Amino acid sequence: MEDTVQISCPYCFESLEVYIDPQSEGELIRDCDVCCRPWLLQVARGVDGSLSVRVSRAQ
Ligand SMILES: [Zn+2]
Repeated sequence: MEDTVQISCPYCFESLEVYIDPQSEGELIRDCDVCCRPWLLQVARGVDGSLSVRVSRAQ
Protein backbone atom coordinates (compact mmCIF):
# COMPACT_ATOMS: atom_id res chain seq x y z
CA MET A 1 0.00 0.00 0.00
CA GLU A 2 1.31 3.36 -1.01
CA ASP A 3 1.38 5.94 1.77
CA THR A 4 3.33 8.78 0.29
CA VAL A 5 1.84 11.18 -2.23
CA GLN A 6 3.21 13.92 -4.37
CA ILE A 7 1.65 17.24 -3.34
CA SER A 8 1.90 20.56 -5.06
CA CYS A 9 1.63 23.29 -2.44
CA PRO A 10 -1.31 25.64 -3.19
CA TYR A 11 0.66 28.57 -1.77
CA CYS A 12 4.26 28.30 -2.93
CA PHE A 13 3.68 25.67 -5.70
CA GLU A 14 6.59 23.61 -4.47
CA SER A 15 6.24 19.90 -5.27
CA LEU A 16 6.71 17.77 -2.16
CA GLU A 17 6.44 14.13 -1.22
CA VAL A 18 4.18 13.81 1.80
CA TYR A 19 3.78 10.82 4.07
CA ILE A 20 0.18 9.98 4.94
CA ASP A 21 -0.30 7.92 8.08
CA PRO A 22 -1.87 4.54 7.18
CA GLN A 23 -4.65 5.16 9.71
CA SER A 24 -5.51 8.54 8.25
CA GLU A 25 -8.62 9.14 6.25
CA GLY A 26 -10.82 12.20 5.78
CA GLU A 27 -9.56 15.69 6.41
CA LEU A 28 -6.12 16.49 7.78
CA ILE A 29 -4.32 19.74 8.40
CA ARG A 30 -0.65 19.80 7.63
CA ASP A 31 1.86 22.59 7.22
CA CYS A 32 3.94 22.97 4.09
CA ASP A 33 7.58 22.06 4.75
CA VAL A 34 8.71 24.91 2.54
CA CYS A 35 6.47 27.90 3.32
CA CYS A 36 4.85 26.59 6.57
CA ARG A 37 1.36 27.58 5.52
CA PRO A 38 -1.47 25.15 6.35
CA TRP A 39 -2.85 22.67 3.86
CA LEU A 40 -6.20 21.00 4.08
CA LEU A 41 -5.65 17.45 2.88
CA GLN A 42 -8.66 15.36 1.93
CA VAL A 43 -7.60 11.74 2.09
CA ALA A 44 -9.63 9.01 0.44
CA ARG A 45 -8.80 5.33 0.02
CA GLY A 46 -10.13 3.08 -2.67
CA VAL A 47 -11.29 -0.48 -2.03
CA ASP A 48 -7.98 -1.71 -3.45
CA GLY A 49 -6.06 0.41 -0.92
CA SER A 50 -5.16 3.11 -3.41
CA LEU A 51 -4.63 6.49 -1.86
CA SER A 52 -5.99 9.70 -3.27
CA VAL A 53 -5.27 13.07 -1.72
CA ARG A 54 -6.59 16.50 -2.62
CA VAL A 55 -4.90 19.54 -1.26
CA SER A 56 -6.36 23.00 -0.77
CA ARG A 57 -5.74 26.04 1.39
CA ALA A 58 -6.90 25.52 4.97
CA GLN A 59 -8.37 28.99 5.37
ZN1 LIG B 1 4.32 25.86 0.47
